[in-house]
Amino acid sequence: MANPSLLILPGDGIGPEVMTEVSRIIDWFGTKRGIRFDVSEDLVGGAAYDAHGTPLHDDTMAKAQEVDAVLLGAVGGPKYDALDFSVKPERGLLRLRKEMDLFANLRPAQCFDALSDFSSLKKDVVSGLDIMIVRELTSGVYFGEPRGIIEEGNERVGINTQRYTESEIDRVARSAFDLAMKRNKKLCSMEKANVMESGILWREVVTEVGKDYPEVELSHMYADAGAMQLTRWPKQFDVIVTDNLFGDLLSDLAAMLTGSLGMLPSASLGKPMENGRPKALYEPVHGSAPDIAGQGKANPCACILSLAMALRYSFDLGDEATRLEEAVEQVLADGVRTADLLNVEGATPATTSQMGDAVLAALDASL
Ligand code: NAD
Repeated sequence: MANPSLLILPGDGIGPEVMTEVSRIIDWFGTKRGIRFDVSEDLVGGAAYDAHGTPLHDDTMAKAQEVDAVLLGAVGGPKYDALDFSVKPERGLLRLRKEMDLFANLRPAQCFDALSDFSSLKKDVVSGLDIMIVRELTSGVYFGEPRGIIEEGNERVGINTQRYTESEIDRVARSAFDLAMKRNKKLCSMEKANVMESGILWREVVTEVGKDYPEVELSHMYADAGAMQLTRWPKQFDVIVTDNLFGDLLSDLAAMLTGSLGMLPSASLGKPMENGRPKALYEPVHGSAPDIAGQGKANPCACILSLAMALRYSFDLGDEATRLEEAVEQVLADGVRTADLLNVEGATPATTSQMGDAVLAALDASL
């Protein structure tokens, strides 16, 4: 049987630096665990613009459609700020998400014990936190028509439309229920059914889908109350499913409960392919961090944990994903930290590659 395939798109800024560490870990799984991937690498974002005059070449797009999973670093940087909107680095990422039809964005908010001091919330509120936000990514108010800025009388009016079809809600709800089944079987759906018709439909469809998942305990919450509950007692949640706009806000809020941008992975999943695997793009939540790019200061953990998500959700290698997550946790517990995770005066931060070395050593120790 052919090896599973992985397309690596390091991108810009710290993207290539953190991806170098991920590549070493992929090699480790090949040599030490006999888990081999057919890995190809290509350009995205500013790097693709420099080479081809477009932030995503058609050939790269075609490759992304064929592989089992795409792993992306980050795109963007000040060098590209003045470019026309149509060729900005971010357009490359948006094209991938759109053409792969990645409708479910998974954003875990997991607080490693060693980092619970980094949260803006009290330690006992966040320590051991492990929740997953599933955000609908391809519809809703960011895409709905009509939209625009029009003249009305003697003033301008800005218009965006919140719009969801039943099938769009159904498919993202199923992704969330499937996830809940693999976790603690608790799902909370968030919308604003009290003031929005799209919220009423959302609640109805999620409830209907829930009938196919009798083992999952389903609850509903208004999204504003959800934001409050997330800061009050986030550990009450397991999986949260919500629309594009509320998900944008709530996933950032939940992510920050855990302290550092350098620790946050994400996955975007689409429909199952012929082999049953969902179309998938894995990437750290952070951007290209131009302020520290090229200095060996970037924390590779978010990208490494994105690989762990790929192992779990694209390759059914949940045990190996856990092995990798535990290796990262061990490294943090041992006090190996990049600068973004250091709050001790005078401590020497680990470099990006030293962090990679430490994760590899912890993986070795796990055998
Ligand atoms: P950013 O995430 O790149 O950086 C925000 C801050 O966090 C910076 O101080 C940075 O040094 C720090 N940081 C981020 N990742 C880190 C890591 N792994 N280790 C240590 N510190 C880290 O966000 P920004 O500064 O708003 O954006 C910079 C560029 O990235 C922009 O061009 C933006 O458009 C782009 N961007 C891309 C993505 C993406 O590729 N998905 C996401 C967000 C921003």
